[in-house]
Amino acid sequence: MLRAYEDKVKDLLGRMTVQEKLGQIQQLTWTGDTGPGGGQTEQTEAAARAGLLGSVLNIHGARSSNSLQRIAVEESRLGIPLLFGLDVIHGFWTAFPIPLAQASSFDPEVARRDAEVSAKEARSEGVRWTFSPMMDVTHEPRWGRIAESCGEDPCLSAAFAVAKVQGYQGPADGSELSRMDRIAACAKHFVAYGGAEGGRDYNTVDVSEQRLRNLYLPPFKAAVDAGVATVMAAFNTIGGVPAHGNAHTMNSVLKEEWGFKGFVVSDYTGVEELIAHGFAEDGAEAARLALTSGLDMEMVSTNVAVHGEALLSDGLITMERLDDAVTRILQLKFDLGLFDDPYSDESAAVAEPTAAARAASRESAARSMVLLRNEGSVLPLSPVAGSIAVVGPFADSTRLHGTWAGPGASRFPSVSVLDAVREAAPGAKVTHAGQDLTQAVAAAAAAEVTVVVVGEDPELSGEAAVRSDIGLPAGQEELIAAVAATGKPFVVVLVNGRPLVLGDWLESATAVLEAWHPGIEAGHAVADVLFGAVNPGGKLPVTFPRAVGQIPLYYNHESTGRPYDPARPEEKFVSKYLDLADGPRFPFGYGLSYTTFAVSRPQLSQQSIAREALERGETVEVSLTVTNTGDRAGDEVVQLYVHDVAASIAQPVRRLRGFERVTLEPGRSTTVSFRLGAQDLGFWTNDPAGTFTIERGRTDVYTGTSSTTRDCCPLTVV
Ligand code: BGC
Repeated sequence: MLRAYEDKVKDLLGRMTVQEKLGQIQQLTWTGDTGPGGGQTEQTEAAARAGLLGSVLNIHGARSSNSLQRIAVEESRLGIPLLFGLDVIHGFWTAFPIPLAQASSFDPEVARRDAEVSAKEARSEGVRWTFSPMMDVTHEPRWGRIAESCGEDPCLSAAFAVAKVQGYQGPADGSELSRMDRIAACAKHFVAYGGAEGGRDYNTVDVSEQRLRNLYLPPFKAAVDAGVATVMAAFNTIGGVPAHGNAHTMNSVLKEEWGFKGFVVSDYTGVEELIAHGFAEDGAEAARLALTSGLDMEMVSTNVAVHGEALLSDGLITMERLDDAVTRILQLKFDLGLFDDPYSDESAAVAEPTAAARAASRESAARSMVLLRNEGSVLPLSPVAGSIAVVGPFADSTRLHGTWAGPGASRFPSVSVLDAVREAAPGAKVTHAGQDLTQAVAAAAAAEVTVVVVGEDPELSGEAAVRSDIGLPAGQEELIAAVAATGKPFVVVLVNGRPLVLGDWLESATAVLEAWHPGIEAGHAVADVLFGAVNPGGKLPVTFPRAVGQIPLYYNHESTGRPYDPARPEEKFVSKYLDLADGPRFPFGYGLSYTTFAVSRPQLSQQSIAREALERGETVEVSLTVTNTGDRAGDEVVQLYVHDVAASIAQPVRRLRGFERVTLEPGRSTTVSFRLGAQDLGFWTNDPAGTFTIERGRTDVYTGTSSTTRDCCPLTVV
């Protein structure tokens, strides 16, 4: 953040009463549980007028945010402007694909572009701060919020977190935050929220320090380095200590170790929930624990505001801590230019998705799709095909925006697959049947090829939307079976917010396309891929299990002590179920294309490197050649993994360290190079004080096109 406002912040702080300081820490909601126009709204206005409010969430619209802002600026004693925040997760007016889909693109540019478009739309409607990006790594497909995440890998999640922060905020120094097309970002949820036991939302998390640091923290560290303005605390406990009262994660790691200068906001009533967690006896204790552990702003509940003065006079919190929290908040308000221009231009509101924003969303959605199966190359379909049946419960759905899709989702329907297929294949006879089995079967029997659109309603993923059975919802497998029984080729298009357990029907499908919840241009993007205008190149950012009973199942697990097959000791990490085939249905990093690629084995610039050289910042180059061996242009995602074969803490069997999505014309080759340095070869130990170590010995360097690659070269740290 810019430091140029330090004097102004100090001056203001010097003029604030204790109540006004406590007020800056308070964030209230606009409509609240009592509904628009009453209750919470009046309370929010009154607090703004009294100068006892720092921020408001869930307000948008240039006119309504201006009128509330006018109360704070013109009627309160010091005229400190309010900061308006909203969950702009994957779009404001223009819904982009859900974050999990975006991660499937393995192209952080997709996330940056979403954030740029969203920032512009939201800012024009008075929103200056988004509660995004969410960067919770998770091994839990049952958890509904996996849809908002980038999946199971910290390296991929970190790359997308950085791209989103840059897209919302611009450069790390905050120099563009006051621009009309920028908003402040919020790295959430700090931390380990994705580790909730059983995938049940808000649930217990108990992780070792090394797992916290190697798995959950890296995306947050990357976001902090990218200048993220704020961080949101998580609802879960970590080893018995709720994240909202966790001095280790907030004070020691985030603020002291990483030097985070922004502010930490609670999650919705998260301070109050310290009581329900059994961690605080009452609101006063909750406020004290939160504040002294490093929390700076309280969302919706009012414990700090109500009890702050007594806590101060009892010496249970210090004025220094309170001033520090308020300073962080005021600093961002200055950085955002709120003191110079607290209002939004009511005539400049974007008001709807522009053609350019729609085009960006469509391209992002198509880039995010993962081709899981394509028997006999039924895809791409010919646009001059004679007859196509489009069936299934989501065939004509215009609600494919996904969870947390922004205010646009209720105003601007998504393009249906049915409409888009009709548009893309104007010469074909396109028939349609929804979920009615008899009609769908009749349509499929009469068509040359059938597109079956199945999956999850948007309400089945997102916050508190946990499923114990992550198969296709009731009736959908029966529909697929009935279509399969016609003996005609058929393509299953999956629209969903999490990895699914794909049943035995999978083997009967001619092709399967994982489209996720693709956003406002859903149908167009699906048709682009089905008819080959776009050759799919996405890869899975999460493991698809064969059965719920395998969960958690993820690629970056540790090895057991016992090889499953002693004859193949290299497969040392497998432990299997008696009643299931081995391994996942589809592994992390997997995805097909309409063309084929050959990837050479990795070449290292040197076979060994001194630990001291790595510590000095030297790197080893890993390069390989990718060739498009098929007959159409396409994308491949080259992936780099490492495995330290013997270390003081047993290492995951693979750790993604780099990836690059390349586009190649048929017959063309390109060389992809990665650099492995200290950050890639070292790891965090269990030391709570934070020890990152690079150990001597052999690391296997893998490259390939999925996490199951066997192409490997040894590298020795000497
Ligand atoms: C969610 C946050 C969100 C907040 C504000 C909470 O319930 O966990 O991710 O930012 O609400 O809407």
